[in-house]
Amino acid sequence: MRKLQLHHRILIGMVLGAAIGLPLNLVAEQGGVDVELVREVARVGEAVGRLFLRLLQMIVVPLIVASLVTGVTGLGDPRDLGRLGGWTFAYYGLTSLLAIVVGIVMTNLVEPGRGVALEALEAESQGQAVPDVVEGNRTLGQILWTQLTEMIPTNPVAATAEGDMLPIIFFSLLFGLFITFTGGEPGARLKTLFEDIFAVMMKMTMFVIELAPIGVFGFMLYAAAGSGLGAFIALGKYMITVVLALAVHALVTLPILLSLLARRSPLAFARAMWPALLTAFSTASSNATLPLTLTSIEERAGVSNRVSSFVLPLGATVNMDGTALYEAVAVLFIAQAFGADLTLAQQVIVAFTALLASVGAAGIPHAGTVMMVVVLEAVGLPATAVGLILAVDRVLDMARTSVNVWSDSTAAAVVARLDRVTATPDESGVS
Ligand code: ASP
Repeated sequence: MRKLQLHHRILIGMVLGAAIGLPLNLVAEQGGVDVELVREVARVGEAVGRLFLRLLQMIVVPLIVASLVTGVTGLGDPRDLGRLGGWTFAYYGLTSLLAIVVGIVMTNLVEPGRGVALEALEAESQGQAVPDVVEGNRTLGQILWTQLTEMIPTNPVAATAEGDMLPIIFFSLLFGLFITFTGGEPGARLKTLFEDIFAVMMKMTMFVIELAPIGVFGFMLYAAAGSGLGAFIALGKYMITVVLALAVHALVTLPILLSLLARRSPLAFARAMWPALLTAFSTASSNATLPLTLTSIEERAGVSNRVSSFVLPLGATVNMDGTALYEAVAVLFIAQAFGADLTLAQQVIVAFTALLASVGAAGIPHAGTVMMVVVLEAVGLPATAVGLILAVDRVLDMARTSVNVWSDSTAAAVVARLDRVTATPDESGVS
């Protein structure tokens, strides 16, 4: 029998997890089976998923370092990096803003918070812990400034040990650049060494990825068996708004940009990125998905390592269209539920803070929800209101993370083409 393709196997894992978890949860709610038993099933699912997640996390740092260094040394001309960076940031800014606009328009149209019974939500949120607000009482400006400063690691080894993405990216880029500047025999030796490490890391990644269907099954089981339906009903309209807006961005806006700017068929490209998108959905972490995003884009979508190794790790950390959109919808929803009509000016503040919050959010589960506290404070809403929407956060996190990864992937394709088109004739031989 022909072996099923990876994305089919992942899909099967996902559907199986949901098909077992959902009925269990339903029956437990009606007293058909012991609630404790269902909780135990959810815990087992999470444990299985977590094993897979840990394997992914294990390979992320060495994979990114090797990939970035090889990407930069492979550039040939270091000036290329400037051009790549320019296109990358322009595209990231554009798509995040478009996502936020879609979110705001959709929330104003659907008005999910109008007439919502706050008490029902509060009852649902009982027992849900408000995420730790690690950011304290700092403003977004301060958070971003700290992030910029801390991009320069005082100790690159410590940053690597901690898995701090931005400092790792910063150091690896510089290291790669200086391998090129050094040149000669040492430069050539190091270039080959990193290429070899990269080849090994890719092989390791392929191995871990083979386990994705099992990990995805576990996480789906956890999500389906663990979340009660009650929360979904109370927050139904809100969830629909977020999901609809995400769908418009992922299925209309980004594909248009992809075909206009990258001249790629969105359908074929999405099929190539399927393994990464499905994994993003079940792990709810852009960082953990990165190994799959990198391999899918290089091996299945044919984007060069030189572009993807730069665009994707950066995107996993700073480009989060799904998160930006979600921040905007959630804040407007909470405002509506409190009966506070936000003026246009206030909505612009929401848009701007949502953008900054998405840049500041880490590519890990629930990071966007933690950042929401800051956005709520920016428009004068109580930060504790985050508690109201926590009950359904996992599911929305899964959806927005897929959109985050989808946006990063389209960025790699778009930047690859723009870079090719705008390369000066004497440079184009290099790329
Ligand atoms: N989980 C998201 C991600 O990793 C971030 C978020 O919480 O919105 O991309």
